[in-house]
Amino acid sequence: MAIRSRRTCAVLLILFAFVSQIAFAQAQPKLSVHWEELTAADFREGIRRSQGTCLLPFGILEKHGPHLPLGTDLLDVRYAALHAAEEEYAVVFPEYFFGQIAEAKHEPGTIAYSRGLQLALLQETTDEMARNGCKKILIVNGHGGNEHLLPYFAQTQLDKPHDYVVYIFDKRAPDAGGPPKKSSGPDWHAGESETSKMLVARPDLVHQDRAGGESGADQARQKIPEDLYTAIWWYTRFPFHYSGDGSAATKELGEFQMKWWIDAVVRSIRAIKADDVSLKLQNEFFEKSTHPLETQP
Ligand SMILES: [Zn+2]
Repeated sequence: MAIRSRRTCAVLLILFAFVSQIAFAQAQPKLSVHWEELTAADFREGIRRSQGTCLLPFGILEKHGPHLPLGTDLLDVRYAALHAAEEEYAVVFPEYFFGQIAEAKHEPGTIAYSRGLQLALLQETTDEMARNGCKKILIVNGHGGNEHLLPYFAQTQLDKPHDYVVYIFDKRAPDAGGPPKKSSGPDWHAGESETSKMLVARPDLVHQDRAGGESGADQARQKIPEDLYTAIWWYTRFPFHYSGDGSAATKELGEFQMKWWIDAVVRSIRAIKADDVSLKLQNEFFEKSTHPLETQP
């Protein structure tokens, strides 16, 4: 008898857990992670649910070898960011591709905004996001040419008080691991890695049969010491705006790298939600910066 009633008890408990899970799911209706798909009221709920954490996936429009679409960086970064936000809720800003790409102005389809506009537009975009409740903004970078722009943008957030924090995530593949690569040398643009990821994000837009039509080899034409930097360095090495070999791409490598990218963004969102230090100390910093002579060690 005792065993029987214990069993009944267990069944009832499981039933209760199941019913309360359904009730919870009904109380928490599924919300889109796409900013542009939310109604105004759902947007308010999205900001609450994301704890004010919003993503700004940053792409570009530029040639990607002879075989990938101009929007490769935008399509890839949105694939990673949207999948990450589905796993760990965050509101994702619409298509953004207003970055640094002066070095590809000689190729068709490149949209290269001026330096001032890149910074001004990004500032107004994050300001507007924050005005709408995004107090923690994660810029997920999908474009290598933004590697200096974004840290500089983040640094300049200290030039005047902000009631939000900008975080940058600028990595698209792990340093090691996964299926061994077939190509050798630099694999920096439209090569094996990037083409592999596009085979996951938008395989319908990959023309892999054309990947060997141009050379993505390093032409190493600039003979100056490595620690001297020039703007023309990329063109001297990769004049066709292609670095690596897209014909070596595989879906397996793409799946490995894309999974790593999504997981890494999920980890970043979780860490940012838990971060109660950055904004607090940023505010303390701004307050002290109004009276530096009184700042005590
Ligand atoms: Zn790219």
